[in-house]
Amino acid sequence: MKLICIGRNYTDHIKELKNEKPTDPVVFLKPDTAILLKKQPFFIPDFSEDVHHEVEVLVKINKVGKHIDKKFAHKYYSEIGLGIDFTARDLQAKLKEKGLPWEKAKAFDGAAVIGNWIAKEGIEDVNNLSFSLEKNNQVVQTGNTSHMLWKIDELIEYVSKYFTLKIGDIIFTGTPAGVGKVVANDKLVGYIEDRQMFSITVK
Ligand code: ZN
Repeated sequence: MKLICIGRNYTDHIKELKNEKPTDPVVFLKPDTAILLKKQPFFIPDFSEDVHHEVEVLVKINKVGKHIDKKFAHKYYSEIGLGIDFTARDLQAKLKEKGLPWEKAKAFDGAAVIGNWIAKEGIEDVNNLSFSLEKNNQVVQTGNTSHMLWKIDELIEYVSKYFTLKIGDIIFTGTPAGVGKVVANDKLVGYIEDRQMFSITVK
């Protein structure tokens, strides 16, 4: 399976990193080895001094598809989740500067936190879902899927032009503002509405 990640999907986060607003979604992949195993702490890798949390809504693909029209995209997922796209910001900045791919900064072991899943039927509107991240009991990131530049169905249409989507693939839909550095002993807890979706510690 693969993790398909979207960058720059919330205007406020684009501003905070002083990025330009894209004309197409920014897309990158993480391998399955990036998934943080359940109940394991996240270990800050030794090649970075500035690993950031990026809390993101996740979509789990439940049907094989290619060139999916956004009208039918809702048939390709039945669960919504929450996770973290951990990013070695210092390394990413160097790679960006040279125009190089971001993988070393984004796809390293443990860089993808995948929390619990909620059945789509239980959600009134996937395009109006609030979510948040607490670090050491303080809210550091809040977002709402209504603020996405590209909504979930549009993202499925877009990424499936390039990649065949397979059962179990997960889309990371981008982070809102509030990204920040993690240090050892931080505790990160993610919520969709008031439901706790994951809780991890940093080592
Ligand atoms: Zn991200």
